[in-house]
Amino acid sequence: MAAADQEARQRVVVITGAGQGIGAAIARRFADHGGRLVLVDVNQEHLRQLAGSLEGSGCEVLPITTDVSSKEQVGQLVEQVVEKFGAIDVLVNNAGIIRDNLISNISEQDWDQVLNVNLKGAFLCCQAVFPTLKKQRSGKIVNIVSRAWLGSIGQANYTASKGGLVSLTRSLALEFARFQINVNAVAPGLIDTPMTQGMPAEGRERLIRMQPTGKMGKVEDIAAAVAFLASDDAEFITGQVLHVDGGKSCGLLSL
Ligand code: NAP
Repeated sequence: MAAADQEARQRVVVITGAGQGIGAAIARRFADHGGRLVLVDVNQEHLRQLAGSLEGSGCEVLPITTDVSSKEQVGQLVEQVVEKFGAIDVLVNNAGIIRDNLISNISEQDWDQVLNVNLKGAFLCCQAVFPTLKKQRSGKIVNIVSRAWLGSIGQANYTASKGGLVSLTRSLALEFARFQINVNAVAPGLIDTPMTQGMPAEGRERLIRMQPTGKMGKVEDIAAAVAFLASDDAEFITGQVLHVDGGKSCGLLSL
């Protein structure tokens, strides 16, 4: 579908983990430009609040409570979106969790939960939207990974899930390219969200000190990068990881 036609009929944007933090900021960013927003989260109350705050923004909002690690629920989600809007233009795989620990203390359950939400969840969503995007001959998928995919002590389960998601991004970029579907990743550094606010204060302060910029990033920094990769300006960009991390992927400060 030509870009002009796509703009004309208002893009359908699906965002997982939209209930709070980075996902909610991505939703607000897309809402600024109208269109149809599908807000997906396990947390029904967060979705309700976000949808309420977007009332009057001029965009159509469809909140759907879904656990992205469930194939059945993801299938129902995509069915519902296609039935209502007849298209999917952008999928942002943002839902993610942490269960940090040193390797000896990572339980099998914590390993499975993190891999199931962060990696399998994105796989299920990509797989479920693919027939629609293929038929349209257009689509943008943006996966939220993490700077931590490069390696991080005490996060073996999380880094493995995000490293896996980078590989999934690159493989799907190749597989989908001939259908004009772009697949890219955004790798946030330390961003101020409920996820990082839940960290022990001392560890959080240490991480901020190690930041080249000496401060945390904002959710809006990530939303801006996602908006770019989902735009027509990124038409010839696929299979890439855009680090939005205040330089942390170049090295850590150890002053
Ligand atoms: P957050 O504040 O914890 O928000 C994540 C949202 O995803 C929550 O609303 C959460 O609901 C929801 N969620 C959890 N499991 C889900 C599931 N199975 N299905 C659907 N939704 C689910 O996290 P955030 O900091 O905004 O992070 C968003 C993404 O950015 C994650 O992928 C994270 O790994 C990545 N990231 C974050 C940072 C950072 O510094 N914050 C850095 C690098 C990468 P509940 O709250 O009810 O669990």
